[in-house]
Amino acid sequence: MSTDAKNSIAQMEKIVSLCKRRGFIYQSSEIYGGCGGVWDYGPLGAELKRNLRSAWWNTMTREREDVLGLDASILMNPAIWKASGHVDTFCDPMSDCLLTNARFRADQIPPTNGTIYKFLGAVPNAANNNLAINYGLTEGPILRWMGPKTLEHQWTDEELFENFKVGVLEQQLSAEDYVRKVDEAATMKALRTWYSSIYRFEFSVLLPPGKPEQSAIELARKFYQNRGIEFPCPIRSSDNPEWVEGTRAFNPENGAQLTVPRPFNLMLKTYLGPTATEADVTYLRPETAQAIFAQFKNVFDSSRVKVPFGIGQIGKAFRNEVTPKNFTFRSREFEQMELEFFIKPDEAVEIISGEVAAWSEGADLSEPKPNWGWQMWHRYWVDQRTKFYEGIGLGDVLEYYWQTPADLAHYARACVDILCEFPFGTEELEGIAARGDFDLSQHQKHSTKSLEVFDEELKTAAAKLTPEQKEAHIQKRLAAEAAKTKGEPMPEADVRAWFERLFKGNYVPHVIEPSAGLDRMALAVLAKAFVEEEKADVNGKVETRTILRLHPRIAPVKVGVFPLLKNKPELVAKAREVYALLKKHMNCFYDETAAIGRRYARQDEVGTPFGVTIDFETCGEKGPELLDTVTLRHRDSGEQERVKISDLLGKLLPLVS
Ligand code: ATP
Repeated sequence: MSTDAKNSIAQMEKIVSLCKRRGFIYQSSEIYGGCGGVWDYGPLGAELKRNLRSAWWNTMTREREDVLGLDASILMNPAIWKASGHVDTFCDPMSDCLLTNARFRADQIPPTNGTIYKFLGAVPNAANNNLAINYGLTEGPILRWMGPKTLEHQWTDEELFENFKVGVLEQQLSAEDYVRKVDEAATMKALRTWYSSIYRFEFSVLLPPGKPEQSAIELARKFYQNRGIEFPCPIRSSDNPEWVEGTRAFNPENGAQLTVPRPFNLMLKTYLGPTATEADVTYLRPETAQAIFAQFKNVFDSSRVKVPFGIGQIGKAFRNEVTPKNFTFRSREFEQMELEFFIKPDEAVEIISGEVAAWSEGADLSEPKPNWGWQMWHRYWVDQRTKFYEGIGLGDVLEYYWQTPADLAHYARACVDILCEFPFGTEELEGIAARGDFDLSQHQKHSTKSLEVFDEELKTAAAKLTPEQKEAHIQKRLAAEAAKTKGEPMPEADVRAWFERLFKGNYVPHVIEPSAGLDRMALAVLAKAFVEEEKADVNGKVETRTILRLHPRIAPVKVGVFPLLKNKPELVAKAREVYALLKKHMNCFYDETAAIGRRYARQDEVGTPFGVTIDFETCGEKGPELLDTVTLRHRDSGEQERVKISDLLGKLLPLVS
């Protein structure tokens, strides 16, 4: 393992340990040995998540005029998951290790180079067998003699014996010895027993360069032992091991063969109602988005909005991940924060505005414009989401992966993954996809309920078009359909029918979908904030201290309030007063135990950005000018300033909200 890999594992272990020790994140059901891929958030984790959730909700809905909120249920009619494609295609390829039964997501196994040793079966009781005892045969010659043909061919006794004789003579004994030792009848019997006892089950092992053949044999022996064969002697299917490059067919941890990948549906099934029959099957939602599509018409009709507008939702999602890993990064129960932003089809924009704005590097994305088509809206949301991440302290650890046409689903026009640097690598934090009208159209088709909107402005603009202009719009779309490289082009009759409705002001909106994971976001900010510093104490002893440099906006505790000494009632009373004043407006922590340095350190470790210390000056001991002032300590700069208690709230509130 490289030093970098070791360091990142060590870093992750420290973060996991801090999360448990200080009450951010615990393993679910820990006292019963845990529950795979499920995590619980402790007191500080709950606050951190709540702050991230509020930051998303406020930025994406409350502070905008064009986005509304939704809080839909986790359980829905299973027809939704059929229409969305989840029942049929929401699968990951899964492979199992033939040796340990460990399960892997086949597409996430790192491609490996090595030598493949193939075994076609094993013979039981190899060490105690007559053949081995009589001829002193060791495993090597037995493996060589029992070549592939022995299993494929129905040997007669004579053939079997002849083959064995040649093998034995070649491998082990001189002709003289052979003649002296061989009791042909007894050997024949032993051979037949042995031959009929071969356990025929193929197994392969991948060895990295430099690893001896014996380790492949040992692994194969374990494999056959696990299948109930005592003292197995594995039989190689060929003398020549095969060198391969970039294979994903072997367990990366031990080299044992994996099963052929098979699709595994990630949705968690459950039953709705008391009969629990197949007819009652439904699913715990694997994403929050589909409820937004299913409720689109209700929100549209009840909220007097016009396209473009969005519906945002935060809530739990469940996926039976094949290999949950990297702490909370890939969990089986997690929370998503999704926006479906509905826009007009580009054809409608062109009819209304006379053009569709083309995106180019440096385009002004600050304010949406009426002539924006899907491309500008998509770029706009990438920009908005980037600003959001900058606002919670992740600005400098982001990267972007623009999916290639080959990556994209047939209906998607573009998709960008916002990636973030985690100790275990740079991984997806959020996906922002331009999904056309696929989702609403699917639900319209499967539910047979219209999900079209009527757009008066479009109807008015279309009424002004000449028949030639209308035909030009149709021809442009037909050419685009013909040029499609993925999915079926829309037949001409359907295109014409679609335009007929469009010219009357009717269409199914298209959608841009920024979809983020709350748990990944929490992990990303924790990982980014985690730092260790070496500091000498008063006696010069160097200590490693952990500091979480969480952005004040999302830190679970905003202010620590400390009386300098706990045995001075006037200091304690004043500190309690300050605490009561602040805690109505922000999450504060009151602490009077241990030396003040120790208390600061405890708060640094959980990311509290500010500390307020009440000392003798606060009580007026050094004169009236310092009366009712406190020391305000800033976690990141270490700066300490004297602030009037009456100014504290005004100073802190803008920093933490
Ligand atoms: P991945 O490729 O990592 O499996 P995805 O592309 O399937 O993710 P989406 O379906 O686009 O993810 O979900 C949107 C967001 O939800 C992701 O960007 C991620 O932040 C979050 N998310 C998805 N799956 C999980 C999970 N198993 N655990 C935690 N968060 C998740």
